[in-house]
This record gives sequence, C-alpha cells and structure tokens, in this order.
Amino acid sequence: MGKVYIVGAGPGDPELLTLKAYRLIKSADVVLYDRLVNPEILLLAKPECQLIYVGKEEGKHTIEQEKINELLLHYAHTKEVVVRLKGGDPFVFGRGSEEALFLAQHGVEVEVVPGISSATGVPAYAGIPITFRRLSSSFAVITGHEDPKKGSSSVDWESLKGINTLVFLMAVSNRKEIARRLIEVGRDPKEPVAFIERGTTREQRVVITDLYELANDPPEVNPPAVMVVGQVVRLSPYCGQVSATWQAI
Ligand code: SAH
Repeated sequence: MGKVYIVGAGPGDPELLTLKAYRLIKSADVVLYDRLVNPEILLLAKPECQLIYVGKEEGKHTIEQEKINELLLHYAHTKEVVVRLKGGDPFVFGRGSEEALFLAQHGVEVEVVPGISSATGVPAYAGIPITFRRLSSSFAVITGHEDPKKGSSSVDWESLKGINTLVFLMAVSNRKEIARRLIEVGRDPKEPVAFIERGTTREQRVVITDLYELANDPPEVNPPAVMVVGQVVRLSPYCGQVSATWQAI
C-alpha cells in the first residue's frame, strides 16, 4: 500500500515549487496532474514515473471527479509514492480536500503539501501587493464561478463591500456580471481592476480596467486569469511587476 501526497505545484513558474513538492515529484512512481500544472514541472519526474493527465477543461469535464478518486485509490494500492499534483495550493478551490477525504475514508494514508496559490502569487508577479498600509488592510479570495448545485454557501455580495482588495479566481466568463454586482452593492465604479492571464509564466499578460468599464464594455481576457479589484491595482507599475501589456485605465 502506498501513500498519496496531494501537492500544490504553485501558479506556474517552476521555481515557485516548495522544496517538499520538488522532492516528492522527483521520487514519485506516478503523478496525476491537472490542466493548470506547468508541463516544465513534470520534467522533474524520474524517467520511469507514470504521468497521468486528469485535467478538467473549464466548462466541460474531461474526467469526472469520481473517476479521479478511483484512479487515486487504484494507484494507492499499486504504487509506493503517488503524487496528486494540483495548480497553486491544493486546498484553495482545488477540490484537493475532497480527494483527501475520499482517500482517508478508504483507509489510504494521505499527506497534503501546500503550494503558492495563484490568489497571492499571481498578483505579486504583476506588481500588485494585495495588502498595503493605508490602502488595503483586508483581502478576500472569491470564486467567480459558483457551482449552481451548491446551494447555501453562495457568495455573499453585500459582505464584499467592506473588504479592501477582492481576488476572484475562475472569474473570466462571469467578469461582466461580477462587476455589475459589485457596483450594485456599493463599490466605486471607478475602482481599478486587473486581470492577470497565465500569471508567473512566460505568457503572463496584465489587463487593467475599472468596474464601470468591466460592467459595460469588458476588455478581452482569456483564462486562466486572476482578477484583482481594489486601489492596490494602481501600485502595479511601481512594485516590481515582471511583465505586462497595458490596456486603458
Ligand atoms: N488551487 C488553485 C486554484 C484553482 S481554481 C490555486 O491555489 O491557485 C483555478 C483558477 O485559478 C483559474 O480559473 C484562475 O483564476 C486561477 N489560476 C491558476 N493558475 C493561474 C495562473 N497561472 N494565472 C492566472 N490565474 C491562475
């Protein structure tokens, strides 16, 4: 019986892996990885390591979650070191917790290895500090793509009014609606918004807009992207951004 490590791969740049993730990927007998894991990271695996893609395309589910759970269980019984590699941090909107729960319920030993989440790592690469003295003393990370079947734990939009910086993940397709709702609950329509596409990778692109423009004539943005709403977006040119393509502010 092997052990399953649910490992965060960070947002893209392979150098943002933790030392623990690095060691486990190097020693893995099998790696089951997601769509958002940078392929360069997979090159660290030993030649005989089995690499299995279990990614879900946004919108269409290439492999259902139950199938992933079954695969993990299968490899836990047939291999020694099983790495379940997930983008960012496995416990931030990654369903890593569901996988850990399922495995534990089936008597499999599980260990979680946190990673740098795109929620914090990606804005940093765009030069956006999500907190800043006098400008932002709070931030929230919110899903921009709610599961309609989820029911009660839906986003409380009113509560977002008083939080200085809002970081939305999975928000590209609903960006217009999100801006509309934020204005509706009382956020300033002039508040700046940044989208960082493919953050921390060589293809990183930053699009800057504001809530009003986003609600009315949204700029083109392609997933995966992190959406940051707040005054801290203005600091982007001054706080060590890595690369950026600017649009209207
Ligand atoms: N567990 C992951 C998040 C999974 S949800 C984490 O902690 O980062 C998937 C969402 O994460 C995407 O829709 C996008 O909003 C964001 N994301 C992940 N990697 C990204 C990247 N390199 N650049 C921009 N957004 C990214």
